[in-house]
Amino acid sequence: NIEIADGVDHQVAMVMDLNKCIGCQTCTVACKTLWTEREGTEYMYWNNVETRPGKGYPRNWEQKGGGWESEEHTQRTPGEIPSSEDYGEAWEFDHEGILKEGEDKKLAPEGGKPEWGPNWDEDQGAGEHPNSYYFYLPRICNHCTHPSCVEACPRQAVYKREEDGVVLVDQDRCRGYRYCVEGCPYKKIYYNAVSKNSEKCVFCYPRIEGEGPDDEVHPPACADQCVTQLRLVGYLDDTDGPIYKLVEQYEVALPLHPEYQTTPNVYYIPPFAPPQHSRDGETVDAERIPRSYLEQLFGDRVNDALETIERERQKVERGGYSELMEILQDTNPAEQYRLEVF
Ligand code: SF4
Ligand code: SF4
Repeated sequence: NIEIADGVDHQVAMVMDLNKCIGCQTCTVACKTLWTEREGTEYMYWNNVETRPGKGYPRNWEQKGGGWESEEHTQRTPGEIPSSEDYGEAWEFDHEGILKEGEDKKLAPEGGKPEWGPNWDEDQGAGEHPNSYYFYLPRICNHCTHPSCVEACPRQAVYKREEDGVVLVDQDRCRGYRYCVEGCPYKKIYYNAVSKNSEKCVFCYPRIEGEGPDDEVHPPACADQCVTQLRLVGYLDDTDGPIYKLVEQYEVALPLHPEYQTTPNVYYIPPFAPPQHSRDGETVDAERIPRSYLEQLFGDRVNDALETIERERQKVERGGYSELMEILQDTNPAEQYRLEVF
């Protein structure tokens, strides 16, 4: 049932296991260092990790429209451009004055108290003690099969590569109209006010083409440097690979907000949390992360996915073998990167 876009040979994909994310932001820093340390990119996080429940980055991105009205992909849903306050501007600190010139003041953002910024609500979560809960949601561009950003651009500057389905912005064709920013429901295209072009995650295409360290094929930097190695990278249509198995065979890896109808190629293993506890520590028969919240993020299929994972987990507990658990528990998915075109 997997769907590869017309005119695309193979589709690169990523599966992230949300049960393993510790919110360390190493991926964010890896991406920032490699791609967005240029002028005009200060506010951009092509990879960000947001706390859920939470407003995300840019703030309340899920309420800003974009995507498609239906699975026919004939009509796009109108979208808006997040404000600079929603992204949060880079804060200025007087390091020079305090550290070198001995100014007697506290190290704090210059120009008044900020009211919002990326990860402002980090670790806040929801629920009541002792059953409060949260989890981390790492996000990159989904390199969608039906990318509404591509359709939104009147100059065909945003395109999907034939060889691997990576979605890129042709910097020579782009005029900075920002229709793509409006059109992406995940708000994963950013406008660079210095170059006056739009930019986005490039799935580290030079690395997957073999121009990584040592001139070898490497997965995207966010996956390579993830401390818990929770990101599997490969081709969706590689039927022997773990991505195909998780997405298609076991159906436990799910796209974020499938109702946007862009058919993302980044998939998530949903989080399962311990049950709730009473104040005296007794186990209560209720889920800590409300199922309705997970359904909001991943659609109804999250129920079957969690059931399958639980069933396979119990199989292993009884001493049986589970291929699914073997894939999910692999402590070195780096060995499972399958980036050679098959
Ligand atoms: Fe385009 Fe947004 Fe999909 Fe990325 S996530 S391909 S920017 S619609
Ligand atoms: Fe999560 Fe890995 Fe990123 Fe750390 S590096 S925040 S564990 S995805």
